[in-house]
Amino acid sequence: TVAASARNLTKTYGQGDAQVHALRGIDLDLPRGRFTAIMGPSGSGKSTLMHCLAGLDGPSDGTVTVAGTALGSLEDDALTIFRREHIGFVFQSFNLLPMLTAGENIVLPLELGGRRIDDAARERARMLADILGVADRLGHRPAELSGGQQQRVAIARALITEPDLLFADEPTGNLDSTTSAEVLDHLRRSARELGQTVVMVTHERDAAAYTDYVVTMQDGRIV
Ligand code: ADP
Ligand code: ADP
Repeated sequence: TVAASARNLTKTYGQGDAQVHALRGIDLDLPRGRFTAIMGPSGSGKSTLMHCLAGLDGPSDGTVTVAGTALGSLEDDALTIFRREHIGFVFQSFNLLPMLTAGENIVLPLELGGRRIDDAARERARMLADILGVADRLGHRPAELSGGQQQRVAIARALITEPDLLFADEPTGNLDSTTSAEVLDHLRRSARELGQTVVMVTHERDAAAYTDYVVTMQDGRIV
């Protein structure tokens, strides 16, 4: 089955002579439970595609469907709530809160969503920390963790709400190559062991080896 899809997804920035065709009619299905990389040269439309798939940016034409819902059918507030419930994000800069421990960072999205941190929530946090290899770091603050450990905590935090889709935007961009390999391996494991759909934007060629599919962009098209 399909976790998300795009049909004729088109995005044009600017007007007249200054027009930029960032996406030129993209058709894409993201299979559930698979790890997909979006690759391609700088300016080829990777970020625009991810932002449209994640409902962070509206397309000029075409449709995006996530977990059976057409994003274009949602008003702004409903879209924000939909994103919070169905989509997880991991960024290049880990964005952990420095005053909270790793464990507190991981359960934060549940608290922001108004949910109580009960035994089941703590159990899920521990299970994710296990898969991501940071179970022994849960009581530590981000400053006491390596870059790779911080990113793995950020991935656990993004997965705590059981999102239909996890987007990772250049997740290894701030990491050296050994640490990158470690993070990619753990991303792959979370896709495999949780049946999690993961979409990663990256320009690092070596990253392709960790994924099930590679979508290569060039000049606003999938090639
Ligand atoms: P990539 O992520 O592959 O580097 P982007 O999606 O960022 O590519 O950009 C695709 C094209 O759209 C580029 O030509 C870029 O300059 C242009 N673009 C991206 N965002 C904007 C924007 N907010 N306004 C105008 N042009 C943009
Ligand atoms: P709100 O503040 O109402 O929750 P936002 O649009 O600021 O709505 O953020 C919604 C989600 O989108 C958050 O998970 C946030 O981390 C993510 N997000 C915001 N801006 C970006 C961006 N430029 N790229 C990727 N994800 C983003």
